[in-house]
Amino acid sequence: MPDAIGYAAQSATSPLAPFHFQRREMRPNDVRISILYCGVCHSDLHQTRDDWKGTIYPCCPGHEIVGKVTAVGTQVSKVKAGDRVAVGCLVDSCMACDQCLKGEEQLCRNRSTGTYNGKDRITGEVTYGGYTDHIVVRDHFVLKVPDRLDMKRAAPLLCAGITTWSPLRKAKIGKGSRVGVAGLGGLGHMAVKLAVGMEADVTVITTSPSKEADARALGAHKVLIATDKAAMRAATSSFDLIIDTIPVPHPVMPYLHLLDVDGTLCIVGAIDQLPPFHSGLLLGQRRSITGSPIGGIRETQEMLDFCAEKNILPDCEMIDIQDINRAYERLLKADVKYRFVIDMASLAKEAKQAA
Ligand code: NAP
Ligand code: ZN
Repeated sequence: MPDAIGYAAQSATSPLAPFHFQRREMRPNDVRISILYCGVCHSDLHQTRDDWKGTIYPCCPGHEIVGKVTAVGTQVSKVKAGDRVAVGCLVDSCMACDQCLKGEEQLCRNRSTGTYNGKDRITGEVTYGGYTDHIVVRDHFVLKVPDRLDMKRAAPLLCAGITTWSPLRKAKIGKGSRVGVAGLGGLGHMAVKLAVGMEADVTVITTSPSKEADARALGAHKVLIATDKAAMRAATSSFDLIIDTIPVPHPVMPYLHLLDVDGTLCIVGAIDQLPPFHSGLLLGQRRSITGSPIGGIRETQEMLDFCAEKNILPDCEMIDIQDINRAYERLLKADVKYRFVIDMASLAKEAKQAA
């Protein structure tokens, strides 16, 4: 079996460090990918620090993967060696339930297999993510990176992109829709770019006044500072959809107030608990709260194709894998502009040391 090298956490309190392991042998429907870049999602941090409980150690995260195909199994016709490809948060699902058959593999009734911290459906082995030199993935879960997309900047589309694309599409956002984006980090900045691409009227709702100019440069039409009570009051009932990407428990009442009749607060931040809120805020104007997990494979490909057509790319801060622990500390301080992306060429230093 081919050796892999990556970075993993050995416990909830240990920093990520070099990790040697073996990827599985290729199956007939597998694709082997040499990883060029991997985005750093706040979920990677939640998972390695066991914020959600249930992390299996060693934990090797990363679900925003782009690279090149190096080998394919005998049954694979979707891609060939040399193709530019990507892998997101899913590497398998049952492919037989109603949700999988609809192309909503993320909602698989038999639980989809996560790119990391999942269990291989055949061997039961723990899955390891994209902070590594290569990965082996079932062909259905491999995406094609359109030629027009810069590989160096495409990685964050695989999670931050699809997680915000899916609720925007479900809400049928288009010209004139009024969209709020709470939290201007990795997901938030993609929500802004995608909603602007859909010709919506977009407002960033941020806890960081220093991000105002950036928000406008990303395409937002307006900026609301979440701590400015007067501005928040003035914006009452002015949104159709708010995508809430905040990664920590926070009051939702201020955001519910901002929704118009039939407006929706879509929570995508993976947080434990919401503080209580008054039900009158929902009943009074028929508002709703919903959630949304990533997206299916077909819609992920649609999103990649849309980004290629509209020339939408994440704003990336490139880092070496050796900088990953510092990057996590910055994520905790909401200090990222607007997605860290690991250049996997930096792994060569570890390989040399191991030799
Ligand atoms: P991120 O890059 O760290 O951005 C989060 C943003 O939230 C920050 O930049 C900040 O924006 C705001 N924020 C407000 N209070 C904060 C606090 N106390 N600490 C840190 N940030 C704070 O995170 P991300 O990668 O976008 O992920 C956001 C959340 O979505 C995470 O919980 C992640 O696990 C989750 N997620 C969910 C899915 C899904 O399928 N639903 C997929 C991927 C990620 P401002 O400075 O503008 O306030
Ligand atoms: Zn993610």
